Amino acid sequence: MTPIIPIPAFTDNYIWLIRDGRRAAVVDPGDAAPVLAYLDSNALELTAIIATHHHGDHVGGIPELRRRFDVPVYGPAREAIPGRTHALAQDDSIVVPGVGLPLAVIDIPGHTAGHIAFFSADAEVLFCGDTLFAAGCGRLFEGTPAQMWASLSKLAALPAATRVYCGHEYTMANLRFAAAVEPGNAGLPGRILREQAKRDAGLPTLPSTIGEERATNPFLRAEVPGVAAAASAHAGRALGGVVEVFAQLREWKNGFR
Ligand code: ZN
Ligand code: FE
Repeated sequence: MTPIIPIPAFTDNYIWLIRDGRRAAVVDPGDAAPVLAYLDSNALELTAIIATHHHGDHVGGIPELRRRFDVPVYGPAREAIPGRTHALAQDDSIVVPGVGLPLAVIDIPGHTAGHIAFFSADAEVLFCGDTLFAAGCGRLFEGTPAQMWASLSKLAALPAATRVYCGHEYTMANLRFAAAVEPGNAGLPGRILREQAKRDAGLPTLPSTIGEERATNPFLRAEVPGVAAAASAHAGRALGGVVEVFAQLREWKNGFR
């Protein structure tokens, strides 16, 4: 199995490093300094850069990394990615240079208009940036609730064992919201204990799995009657269908503390 290593950046970002022997590729390098420090202290050569969307906390380190390593930059075709050499969209696939990992591209607009994910069926891994989080989802900066719901539904349909490598450590806050939406979800208390134990040990909660997300992430569960009822109760009115339920959940979370 290809080792995938979290490099913490800023306050709660993860830059994911895919390693094969002495070679490594990075996903969403918002900052070059922690990547260069990791490469140097482990005597690794950078062989590729992968970007899921254009936000600075995901692509800000690319120019400096490319000054040190003349490597290809894979990113969404519909967004401005610094130094991008390969513009990707739905149904494209790549083999990550240096580490040999095959990845298929999935269009997942909503957080940003051109956001993409990278999925390996062989390795059972998903890099999904700021679209699907552990127990949560990204804010709708550029897309509509209908787009985001469709994007999350695509990711939810991936095999249950798929490991989810997302861009931020928001899990505990997301789980507090999940418990407010679904106090009766039998999977939540155990997950909260497991994830809190990782945080207490100074470890990332990630990756999660698509199976865990289907069971406990309220944003994948807008079709569940109890979730729809909670969203409707919070809105104080009847909601007309799954996209409206999803939109209401997202708004509820925006103001949730
Ligand atoms: Zn973002
Ligand atoms: Fe981000």
